[in-house]
Amino acid sequence: NADTAMYHAKAAGRNNYQFFAAEMNQSAAERLNIEGKLRHAIARNELSLVFQPQFSAPGVEPTGVEALLRWHHPTDGLISPARFIPIAEETGLIVDIGDWVLSTACQEMARWIKAGLKPMRMAVNVSARQLRRRDFCETVANALITSGLQPELLELEITESSVMENPQEAILILERLGRMGVTLAIDDFGTGYSSLAYLKLFPIDHLKIDRSFVADIEHDLNDRAIAFGTIALAHSLGLRVIAEGVETEDQLELLRSNACDEVQGYLFSKPLNSAAAFAFLHAKQRAE
Ligand code: C2E
Ligand code: MG
Ligand code: MG
Ligand code: MG
Repeated sequence: NADTAMYHAKAAGRNNYQFFAAEMNQSAAERLNIEGKLRHAIARNELSLVFQPQFSAPGVEPTGVEALLRWHHPTDGLISPARFIPIAEETGLIVDIGDWVLSTACQEMARWIKAGLKPMRMAVNVSARQLRRRDFCETVANALITSGLQPELLELEITESSVMENPQEAILILERLGRMGVTLAIDDFGTGYSSLAYLKLFPIDHLKIDRSFVADIEHDLNDRAIAFGTIALAHSLGLRVIAEGVETEDQLELLRSNACDEVQGYLFSKPLNSAAAFAFLHAKQRAE
């Protein structure tokens, strides 16, 4: 723990102690630094979306895309979501950023459809902090109205932990979104803690099996049991399953032969910028 580390650092000598203290400050300073820069990211046009296609498992036909946020800082370069999303959540910046993501994602799909793409799902990640806001449903409605996207084509990806923070309240919000026609997915399923009793109460459409269970599905029998068990559970509750992080043919074959409905991963496509995503999906559709 921190005290023991401090003791050893001190015992090792004054220079080490100073080094240790400097390191601690640096990580706090780095967070502040990211926070400060993130405050201007929207206004300075540093945010963008990339889109990762999703496919039906049997036929490998595109069923939709997941929008993923990217932040290109002019001097720091590309900063990964794993580094800045948690900071955006803690500071509340995720609310404005999330609004931007929602409206941009809806506009992109509406634009692609106008340009000739067969309508398909646009999935958007939503954090707990956004979901808790009283005006969240209104924000979603605005993104749909402004873009003209059909509500049925918007899917919101929500994590288990964000709905389990306050399940009673989450059910009400999710029901409202469901009534609007929007579809819902539980993201990273199996990594958070969720109650199966609640799962059947949530008006959700998809469960997404986390990449961590797919990565070693060929060799790790526990991961395999969790993945296959999730598929069976989801189907018995009337939900469809999307496996994320599919990278090999063997992983695809195992998932497919165990009735997994949809797949997403580097085997099919990495996340693509808007123009590349449109071209990719359009070409796949013409090939059908
Ligand atoms: P997620 O929603 O579970 O997204 C899937 C992540 O797995 C993405 O990472 C994607 O690029 C990556 N991935 C997909 N297929 C593969 C694969 O075959 N192999 C490997 N190694 N990785 C794969 P990314 O884009 O870095 O995003 C990380 C996380 O950041 C997301 O996980 C999501 O939780 C969060 N995030 C991203 N965009 C947004 C956003 O707009 N809003 C919110 N609230 N969170 C976001
Ligand atoms: Mg997701
Ligand atoms: Mg996920
Ligand atoms: Mg994941």
